[in-house]
Amino acid sequence: MPKRDYYEILGVDRGASQEEIKKAYRRLARQYHPDLNPGNKEAEEKFKEIQEAYDVLSDPEKRSRYDQFGHAGVEGGAGAGSGPGGFGGFDFGGAGFGGFDDILDMFFGEALGGRRRRRGPERGADVRLDLDISFEEAAFGTEKEVGVPRLERCPDCGGSGAAPGTGPVTCPACGGSGQVTITQRTPLGYYQTIRTCQQCQGMGTIISHPCKTCRGRGQVQRTRKIRIKIPPGVDTGARLRLAGEGEAGERGGPPGDLYVYINVLPHKVFRREGFDILCEVPISMVQAALGDEIEVPTLEGKAHLIIPEGTQSGTSFRLKGKGIPRLNGAGRGDQHVVVRVVIPKDLTEREKELLREFARLRGWHPTAKDTEKEKEKGFFRKVKDAFMG
Ligand SMILES: [Zn+2]
Ligand SMILES: [Zn+2]
Repeated sequence: MPKRDYYEILGVDRGASQEEIKKAYRRLARQYHPDLNPGNKEAEEKFKEIQEAYDVLSDPEKRSRYDQFGHAGVEGGAGAGSGPGGFGGFDFGGAGFGGFDDILDMFFGEALGGRRRRRGPERGADVRLDLDISFEEAAFGTEKEVGVPRLERCPDCGGSGAAPGTGPVTCPACGGSGQVTITQRTPLGYYQTIRTCQQCQGMGTIISHPCKTCRGRGQVQRTRKIRIKIPPGVDTGARLRLAGEGEAGERGGPPGDLYVYINVLPHKVFRREGFDILCEVPISMVQAALGDEIEVPTLEGKAHLIIPEGTQSGTSFRLKGKGIPRLNGAGRGDQHVVVRVVIPKDLTEREKELLREFARLRGWHPTAKDTEKEKEKGFFRKVKDAFMG
């Protein structure tokens, strides 16, 4: 029997997006799923066909090969253990997969309610918390108490959603099966589909008296105070995971995790590079020339730094072990102190005279301004000479 076109099987056109393909597949798989059509050979065949078409069209590489070469382009590519009908990678009840339920769980998760499978416990969502900490807190670690808004198990109904003293009752719409059969009359005849029961969302039970606290959701929004221990050495972008501190799970499922994203606020003096810290310190031109002992800031108060004679602006000095503690506990980084020589802008005439004197002593060329003055003097002298002479 020649194979049908995969696009035709899924009822999508050739330009369909991955999302459209997935949607079509889900819809058809729900309709022809063997669990919902027990003993129906035709549905089983159809389901295989749908599965195979989806297997190819959901994989961009296989899809492009199929588009170019048709079935020949993807034959055998579906898996080595191709069973009857060239159908590989998927075996009914075979060893490769755990059977339908697993596969359906993979694709549908909770979406498919079933006779055998009702929606079970679900893990709660993870919660993200962005936390600003100071430069020093990042360096030496800290403990912070933060308010984390999250969904928690309702304390009044214990998460069941049913008012205290009551319990869930069998869903009257589906009689507890979690699914309903819908019969549609079309020009081509009756058409039956099995859908997840809307009233109970496939759970088979409904809550007749919802808990007032949580309005039947089984969860309530609470801001919970949580103490977070921040280890020394963390930097912006670090992520701490607090297992089980996320949102409550549904129907007794485990809670999610809390992820704390660290943002280190800038420091007014220090800049960080890895585990080293950097700062700039101004010194006078006299200190630079003659040398001095100065005080510099460190993460733990002040330290002394010797400025040798003849230090150039921009020279960097290293204070070993005065940086950030390493996360693995292996010592600390260094502090680098860069000195900037500051030139005074408010010199008095006397100070200027001393600097000129200094320049003369050094045998330095006079400044351009002085040279101008000299030239002017020379010019006037010449003029004077010309008139007087
Ligand atoms: Zn409740
Ligand atoms: Zn129902």
